[in-house]
Amino acid sequence: MTDTHDARRDELARSLRTVRDRIETAAAMAGRAPDEITLIVVTKTYPASDVALLADLGVTDVGENRHPEAARKREEAGDPAAALRWHFVGALQTNKAAAVARYADVVHSVDRPRLVDALDRGARQAGRTLGVLVQVNLEGRDDDPAGRAGAAPGDVLGLAAQVDAAEALRLEGVMAVAPLDADPDDAFARLAEVAASVAAAYPRATAISAGMSGDLEVAVKHGATHVRIGRSVLGERPPLR
Ligand SMILES: *Cc1c(COP(=O)(O)O)cnc(C)c1O
Repeated sequence: MTDTHDARRDELARSLRTVRDRIETAAAMAGRAPDEITLIVVTKTYPASDVALLADLGVTDVGENRHPEAARKREEAGDPAAALRWHFVGALQTNKAAAVARYADVVHSVDRPRLVDALDRGARQAGRTLGVLVQVNLEGRDDDPAGRAGAAPGDVLGLAAQVDAAEALRLEGVMAVAPLDADPDDAFARLAEVAASVAAAYPRATAISAGMSGDLEVAVKHGATHVRIGRSVLGERPPLR
């Protein structure tokens, strides 16, 4: 292997160690066991070679936010990545749902009835079962000027029922992104309430996907079972064009 390959491997090993330490510390502070929390490394914009290195370093779950980038990378990452669980975490257009249903293991960004239908149809056609998290909008206002994705908290149980009834979908829980200019502590506390109402109705749907590089500690404090970490593992992404 080349020097740059080895250098990148060392760099990723170090940053992974740091992130795993952060998760362990946050779990300890919250009186939780660290193995209740799954690290999803969000590899968007980074090459398939990084995905392969991460798999080799013991990462089990990766996240992507765009189709077809995710599909291409899954293909290219090859053997070591074959056993990874692929999480689709980005905004998803209804007309791309069937394509994503062919390769994603879990979709975190399900926020409207038409998307549930499209994913179910796509998964059935592919002969697969797809894990689904209902994305919750935590902006706390109905007109959502930022255009952030997610179902209003009051719509989450209805969507959960639709997912639960879908033949090829498995309801796993809820997901959210903290609002940009609000305290993530309040936002993730509200998410925990929504998550509890979903788990009360569907006892197997206990997943809470919350927490990114900047706020994973707060998310773990409020019960996150899945943290989605990009920059703290892979480095700063170049700005989107
Ligand atoms: C990019 C992204 C992440 C990771 O964010 P970082 O700040 O790089 O850790 C998590 N969740 C979603 C939905 C994302 O798009």
